[in-house]
Amino acid sequence: CGIVGYIGFRESQPILLEGLKKLEYRGYDSAGIAVYTEHGLEVTKTVGRLVNLENRLSGDPLRGTVGIGHTRWATHGKPSDVNSHPHTDNSLKFSVVHNGIIENYLELKEELMHQGHRFLSETDTEVISHLISVEYDGDIVRAVQRAVKKMRGAFALGVLTEYEPDRLVAVRYASPLIIGVGDGEKYIASDIPAILEHTRDIYILNDGEMAVLTRDGVELLTIEGNFITKEIFHVDWDL
Ligand code: GLU
Repeated sequence: CGIVGYIGFRESQPILLEGLKKLEYRGYDSAGIAVYTEHGLEVTKTVGRLVNLENRLSGDPLRGTVGIGHTRWATHGKPSDVNSHPHTDNSLKFSVVHNGIIENYLELKEELMHQGHRFLSETDTEVISHLISVEYDGDIVRAVQRAVKKMRGAFALGVLTEYEPDRLVAVRYASPLIIGVGDGEKYIASDIPAILEHTRDIYILNDGEMAVLTRDGVELLTIEGNFITKEIFHVDWDL
């Protein structure tokens, strides 16, 4: 129900957890983060309140400067540790947080299972990470575009791959998503309060648009792959 993401030069875990806290008002039943650490993409997630996640992480923090986070409002699959986001593919090289509903996920899941994919969760979201892994041929942006074309429904996504640890991909269709632009660091979030303490310069994504975040910049494009430009929205109000 809430998404955050960070790519920059600071430790991502505290930024992700703070951001998720600011999105608590949206309601949730579980939470998790994925961080690109020295061991690759690592995920910690748990059913229950954010404090459960914080407790788990405080003993065993995920260290790294790129990460995504999620608070879940279960629509497909009960609230549980495995059903919590982020979700990964079988190679554990792709990690996805998702707000929304994939209407044709059963069809997609069946097809993927025929191809040998194993699923751990009951969620609609897990098909997304698998689809992206199937479509990946060296460019995460194109893989996400192709995966998204197969999906029907509503989604705001944050996507990381271990193969391209200096890029964070965000895409939106019928679920909210914004991009925060800082100096040497960039953010994604479901809503402005999640990142307001870090930056006031925001891109608001529209349906069918995506963003590719690096530490130094943000590329905006459509799901079809056409580059677009957008005015920065400067937030001049306080929380
Ligand atoms: N449909 C997804 C799930 O049930 C995402 C729910 C959400 O937006 O939090 O896991």
